[in-house]
Amino acid sequence: MWYNSGMDERQRSEALRLLAENYPDARPALHYSTAYELLVAVILSAQCTDERVNKVTAELFKEHSTPEGMLALSQEELEGYIYSCGLYRSKAAHILSASRDIVQKFGGQVPEDFAALRSLAGVGQKTANVVASVWFAKDAIAVDTHVFRVANRLGLAHAPNPKKTEEQLQAAIPQKDWSSAHHWLIWHGRRVCHAQRPDCAACALAPCCDHYLQAVNTQAVNAQAANEGE
Ligand code: SF4
Repeated sequence: MWYNSGMDERQRSEALRLLAENYPDARPALHYSTAYELLVAVILSAQCTDERVNKVTAELFKEHSTPEGMLALSQEELEGYIYSCGLYRSKAAHILSASRDIVQKFGGQVPEDFAALRSLAGVGQKTANVVASVWFAKDAIAVDTHVFRVANRLGLAHAPNPKKTEEQLQAAIPQKDWSSAHHWLIWHGRRVCHAQRPDCAACALAPCCDHYLQAVNTQAVNAQAANEGE
């Protein structure tokens, strides 16, 4: 029987079960000890590895771990700290602008309200979702590059952009698992379902993966066509 594209309920449940089983301790790789440090680290992590961000924040947070402390730095001084994270000019401008707003509008505290979080410079949907779920323990699925890729390969989503992917994941995954699923998908993307060469041969989720099952199906169709042509 040929495989029909599209994850059914059984595949979805199995994929989520296997993700939970394979990544029981999945958690953020970024280092932080306050909501503000987490916010800054997530802003810095755009198009940068968590390892690099952790090296940079280890130095930056020694003297500048609060919004008030960050505002003691000039744009150029902050750029000097975060240069190696890439996009350092815009990231420095965003961090300083967000820090100013946190001090002036939110009493020096990172706001818990989602709309208020989103109003901060440099805080898009993904960053706000990470802070909401990781620090404020809200049910949220932040869609970064790994989550977007793995969710759409598996078939948990079939979406052209992160926003639609987030909506489809919210529909496909029980709300209590949203925050965990964010970490499961990131870890699976980093360890197995790589962007360039997904290691499908070693992937525990292959039996319920839309991308994999379609590839197997295509190979079978091609082999049958070749046999019939002989
Ligand atoms: S089977 Fe391949 S494409 Fe599917 S989740 Fe695993 S590594 Fe990714």
